[in-house]
Amino acid sequence: MLGRGGRWLQRAGGAAPAPHGAQLSFDGAVLRLKSGWELARGLLVLRLCGLPGLVRRAPTLLSVSRRLLGHRLWGSLLRASFYGQFVAGQTPPEVGVTVQRLRALGLRPLLAVPIEEDVGQDKEGEGWYEGNRGAVLGCVGLSAQGGSQPMMQLKVTALMSARLCRTVSLRLGEPGGLSEFSMDRVMAVMGGEEANFSSLSPAENRHLQASLLRLDGVTQRAVEAGVRVLVDAEYTYVNPALTLVTLALMGRWNRAQPWVWNTYQCYLQDCLVRLGADAALAERRGFCFGVKLVRGAYLEQERRLARERGYPDPLHPTWEATNHSYQHCLDLLLELVARDGQQCQLIVASHNETSVSHAIRRMEELGIAKDGGAVCFGQLLGQAGYAIYKSIPYGAVEDVLPYLVRRAQENQSVLQGIRKERDLLRRELWRRLLRRP
Ligand SMILES: Cc1cc2nc3c(=O)[nH]c(=O)nc-3n(C[C@H](O)[C@H](O)[C@H](O)COP(=O)(O)OP(=O)(O)OC[C@H]3O[C@@H](n4cnc5c(N)ncnc54)[C@H](O)[C@@H]3O)c2cc1C
Repeated sequence: MLGRGGRWLQRAGGAAPAPHGAQLSFDGAVLRLKSGWELARGLLVLRLCGLPGLVRRAPTLLSVSRRLLGHRLWGSLLRASFYGQFVAGQTPPEVGVTVQRLRALGLRPLLAVPIEEDVGQDKEGEGWYEGNRGAVLGCVGLSAQGGSQPMMQLKVTALMSARLCRTVSLRLGEPGGLSEFSMDRVMAVMGGEEANFSSLSPAENRHLQASLLRLDGVTQRAVEAGVRVLVDAEYTYVNPALTLVTLALMGRWNRAQPWVWNTYQCYLQDCLVRLGADAALAERRGFCFGVKLVRGAYLEQERRLARERGYPDPLHPTWEATNHSYQHCLDLLLELVARDGQQCQLIVASHNETSVSHAIRRMEELGIAKDGGAVCFGQLLGQAGYAIYKSIPYGAVEDVLPYLVRRAQENQSVLQGIRKERDLLRRELWRRLLRRP
């Protein structure tokens, strides 16, 4: 892959992992803004998220409790617990308060409407997706008020059905799929041409056309408002379609600077190969490449699906292997950024101290300015003059339920970050109880 990767990429390939270096202060200063109740709730919720039986049954427990308690009481209980822990609020004023609290700490908001659809949950007609388009445009508006170099997260499956994403992903893997669903054809539909893909039904073509226009329209508004759009990665059975539409958006909008970014999940065995291929494509086609680098949030579900359907597990077998993958991808990207920080930009979206320290060390070695805008960090507790974004999802309880369940499930596999967060919460509670400065 790297061999195919063009001039720009070849020079970046083969970077040896550097030793772990400079330490960031993960001091939990952000917790000083939380009330005693919020700290205690944080500890309780993280504890509950650590109970595998409870987390496994979370979707059933949520629907049964909604039936037993009634919608209002159920909503209030969730708002006081899991929702309150993981979500910024429901209305723009509530979100505004959270944004102000973060900015007071020098953190930047990374707003997200965590509406996502899984295959089998398809909503009827275009209405649901059009409604989501309104919510995403609201997110663009709120993000634009978020200080310098605003960013937001976007879930493609909020604007295009997961079922169609899976169908397109399947077609991409079939002979002729790559030429039928080429980036150019997708860009042409985004630009107003009629969708006419022979392997899709007329209804699928209509939905694809409406979805691509929605995605393009949202991106156009974001560019006009000066907001960078970070497209989330989701399940492996929809990701090829997500990457296709994201690269098409990049091809249309990332001419002068990276407004649209793609997410790469390092727990996937083919992550480095795909990252390299897409970086090479960006270079060949002359568009800027923005990357959100994550480990990956769907570990349990991906493994279960592979087991149930009898295909090889697409994930690295261990956390250590995922860590290696993360570091290799990071090294590749930092070299690309060092070469041209306008052409390639990166958000290190991880709570992992080793990864963050490694990124900082390599930035120093490669001469990448920490406040130059080309590299930033996602969801850190500490800060040291770097651009740090805090992911803050918001929305109504019902809309963010799948997100809440996934956060609970994800917390089972988030080893270092959760332990650290629990320690920091405990330490902050003790500091207050003992009235220490
Ligand atoms: C700003 C931001 C945006 C994000 N956007 C996305 C997104 O678009 N898509 C997405 O999927 N995730 C996203 N995530 C979540 C991310 O993928 C991780 O789940 C989360 O950040 C925990 O990883 P870590 O590096 O912070 O922590 P760590 O605790 O160092 O790592 C935990 C992660 O390691 C991996 N892991 C753990 N155990 C194993 C194992 N046995 N074998 C293999 N791998 C293992 C899993 O990916 C797990 O989540 C985002 C995170 C942030 C901070």
